[in-house]
Amino acid sequence: MYAFDYAKPASLDEAARLLADDPEAKALAGGQTYIPTLKQRLAQPTRLVDLAGIPDLATIKEEGDGLAVGAMTTHKAVAASPVVQRAFPELAYLASLIGDPAVRAMGTIGGSVANNDPAADYPVVVLTLDATVRTTKGEHRGSDFFPGMFETALEPDELIREFHIPVPEAAAWEKFRNPASRYALVSVLLVRTKDGEIRCGVGGAGPTCFRATAIEDALRSSFAPEALDGVTIDAGDLNEDIHATAAYRAHLIPVLAKRCVRRMLRR
Ligand SMILES: Cc1cc2nc3c(=O)[nH]c(=O)nc-3n(C[C@H](O)[C@H](O)[C@H](O)COP(=O)(O)OP(=O)(O)OC[C@H]3O[C@@H](n4cnc5c(N)ncnc54)[C@H](O)[C@@H]3O)c2cc1C
Repeated sequence: MYAFDYAKPASLDEAARLLADDPEAKALAGGQTYIPTLKQRLAQPTRLVDLAGIPDLATIKEEGDGLAVGAMTTHKAVAASPVVQRAFPELAYLASLIGDPAVRAMGTIGGSVANNDPAADYPVVVLTLDATVRTTKGEHRGSDFFPGMFETALEPDELIREFHIPVPEAAAWEKFRNPASRYALVSVLLVRTKDGEIRCGVGGAGPTCFRATAIEDALRSSFAPEALDGVTIDAGDLNEDIHATAAYRAHLIPVLAKRCVRRMLRR
């Protein structure tokens, strides 16, 4: 680790000001990604701006047609929340499958979405449901928030305050996990929105999460697993690494989507 200063502001506005004053300063949430990055000397911030001392950033409440979830809410809190379990049980299930107990106890939804790891789970939710990302500078739409791998629409001194996640009428989440890291090789979130729209978000497979429109089109005609029988996904733009080829990831997407359809039909 390189040496750095440390600040623990008492408000999000003060945190944003500290970041605006120094372009080399960096926010810290649960530290599950950023602390290992520092340990490996892959980043050299002048100052860490720790968000852990800011009150009211870890709240979960129902708001209008959705859930308002504070940026510092841990995965463990989302998984255990009675509000989430009642309104959007598949989101609680998704949170319960992230990493291991230590990662879930410390990792936050804000850190996960701001980091936009291609294999992360919450970005798929934010994209698929077109959640609103509320920040210190205004709002972003989830559908425009993830331009590329590890990139977001955030400016360097912009901090996520909370998310407004519309609750779908029905949803199913399937994740094909790397057994060592528990990150997704491929994940699929299938939803029917309150307007009756079918949406299929995919994580882990490409440089960033995306909507599988071929799957959405097929399911719009017939909401049955067989509707996906002829559907193929182009492997050309997908990730290829030591864990899986692009072709294998492409194969997994309709397989997981079919499992989602079956689960939604069973309920
Ligand atoms: C072993 C392991 C397994 C994991 N498995 C999974 C998995 O299965 N699925 C999954 O989705 N994730 C997984 N993760 C990632 C983890 O869940 C965290 O969500 C992720 O590391 C980032 O969250 P954090 O709160 O720790 O953020 P930090 O590491 O503190 O920060 C990450 C980045 O986000 C920025 N940031 C943090 N908060 C904000 C904010 N409010 N506004 C703007 N920028 C902000 C920071 O500046 C930094 O650049 C895993 C991590 C580990 C170590």
